[in-house]
Order: sequence, then structure tokens, then C-alpha cells
Amino acid sequence: MSEPTSRPLCTPRRATRQIDVGGVKMGGDAPVRVQSMTTTKTGDLAATEQQIKELATAGAEFVRVTVNDQAAADTLPALIALGNVPLVADIHYDHKMARAALAAGVAKLRINPGNIGSADNVREVAAAAADKGVPIRIGVNRGSLHRRYDDLVAKDPAGALVQSAVDELEVLAAVGFHDVAVSLKSSAPGEVIEACRRFAEISDVPQHLGVTEAGTLLAGTSRSIAAMSVLLSEGIGDTVRISLADDPVHEVTAAYHMLQALGLREGFARVVACPTCGRVEVDVMALAAKVEELAKELPSDRVISVMGCIVNGPGEAKAADLGIAAGKTKVAIYRKGELHRTIEKDELDGVLLEEIDRLR
Ligand code: SF4
Repeated sequence: MSEPTSRPLCTPRRATRQIDVGGVKMGGDAPVRVQSMTTTKTGDLAATEQQIKELATAGAEFVRVTVNDQAAADTLPALIALGNVPLVADIHYDHKMARAALAAGVAKLRINPGNIGSADNVREVAAAAADKGVPIRIGVNRGSLHRRYDDLVAKDPAGALVQSAVDELEVLAAVGFHDVAVSLKSSAPGEVIEACRRFAEISDVPQHLGVTEAGTLLAGTSRSIAAMSVLLSEGIGDTVRISLADDPVHEVTAAYHMLQALGLREGFARVVACPTCGRVEVDVMALAAKVEELAKELPSDRVISVMGCIVNGPGEAKAADLGIAAGKTKVAIYRKGELHRTIEKDELDGVLLEEIDRLR
């Protein structure tokens, strides 16, 4: 459920061309897609399989894996056979890995124009992708722009990101390949916003939004959402990846929370938790985390409030389907703003299960 607001938070999505990532539509009238990337060595089948499953369960609609060596390429067929979620091959330096990934049956390629080598290499990859009907994302990164953009970077870094994407798209267009997406990434949110805006003014190619090397859980999520919210509110962006130096499952969860808050996707039931203060009578952080976990399966329009004392319980409970307000020894349970019952604290676990189950 989106937050209550009197005006739409986002202008209508920009019209972009649509691509198909292993049966998942992206761009055009498709919803903003959520994706992530594994952090395991792709050649480690068991570990990568486990992480892909976790990401798919969390809601990732496609998952990128690095294909950086022969072991990774050799493992791809087994990972694809799992069928959990379409896989995207991330290719740097070695365009032959792109050929191997296509032969294995990946749903999409990501190539980095700054390090994939000559235009001939790009053309060769495009021809192989066209044969398989597989789209390509041109993934432009500020940290790995080709040296020919050095002067432009010094004057206009966002312009250099856009120019690199435009040049690479021209190479693909020249061989008749138009099944493309782009990303224009930097670790500076302002540069990402500027580059993505400028690109959206000149092209209908769908955009993958991301702040690269965003950082640790809190810093990275905040920096990513700062940039993406601005762009999404302007109708720019067809898929998002929040890049974190943490468990990638957090990337998916954070992306859904962001899209839900902007009214762009259904997400999770909303758990309202008080920030706590000296009046607190319960471990609110642990309780809210437990409620969030239990509420994952609920419809996204449900609201549950968790209050650390009785002061704000009745007020917050008014706007919630289920309200929980802790007292010294007892806990008040509200249903749709009405006090439903008062229980002993040690009954809370069982009552939570019961009350949350009622909201399904
Ligand atoms: S609900 Fe109670 S514990 Fe939580 S912030 Fe308000 S006064 Fe403090």
C-alpha cells in the first residue's frame, strides 16, 4: 500500500520500449522490476544455487550472476535448469564469456562498454544474442568508463556516462540490434540522477537504475533510494537494483519497500513501529522484526502497529488493522482501532500468530 497522499507521488512512467527477460517483461507498460545480483563465486554451484533461491523467494524478478571464468560458465546450465528466476550474465573484459553464457541459455546479458574491448567484440556478442533472442544491457559505470571519455568526465561526468551509452547503442544499432536496456551508474547519486534524466530525454531505451558501490546496508540503501526516488517520481526507470555490500536479499526487500512507498508496486504489509523512548516497556526492535517476518505473507494493504508503551497505542491503532501496545506486565491488542483484549506479556508470541493469521 502506498502512503496516504493527496497528489500522486510519481508522474506517469515514461514510454520506453519493452524487452523480455526470460519471460519477464521490462519497460513499456510493465511494472518497475526488482532485481539483484549474487555475491557467491558463480562456479560454486551449491552456494550460488542457495543464494538464487533466497533472492527469488524474496521477490527478485531476475538475478544477475557474474560470468568471469570458465568455472562460472560451466556452472550456468545447472543454475538455469533450476528455473527459479531468469538469470542475467554479467560480462567484463572477456566477450567470449558472453558467447558461453548465451550458449548456456541466460535470459539477458550485461556488458560493460568500458572494458569489453573493440566494437568488433560488441558486434560479435550482438549477433550471438540476436540468434538467441536475448536482450543486452549496456551497463555504463563511472568507475570504468573508457579512457576516450577522460576529457569529458573532467568537464561533465554525467554527460560522459550518457555519451558512452549512446556510442555503444549506436554500435548495436548499426548491426540491427535494438533489444537493449541501459544503466548509467556512478557512486554519486547526483550524477546518476543527472545522467538518467538526460538519457531519458533522448532515448526510449528502458533504464536500469542503480547507484554503484553504494555502500553498507544503511548508507547504501539511503544513497540508492535518494537517487532512485527522484528518478522514479519523474517517471524514469524500468528496473531497479539497490547495490549493497551486504546480503543481497536486503537489496530486494529495500527495493520493494521503496517502490511500495512511491505507489509503484505492491510490497509488504506495513509495520508501523514506534522509535522507542524512556517509556518503553518491551524490546520494540525485536518485536517489530518478528511481526515483519510473520506479516510477509499478508496482503500489502494491511497495517500493523507496534508501540513500546501504552501512550501512543490507541492513537496509532486507529489507523491499523492490528495494534500492539506494551504495558509493564500486559499487552493491549487492538483490532481496527478498538481495544480487543489485554493479554499477559508471556502470551504475546501465541497471540501474535493468531492475530496475524486473521489478517490473511
Ligand atoms: S509509543 Fe511509548 S515507547 Fe514508543 S516512542 Fe511513544 S512514548 Fe516512547
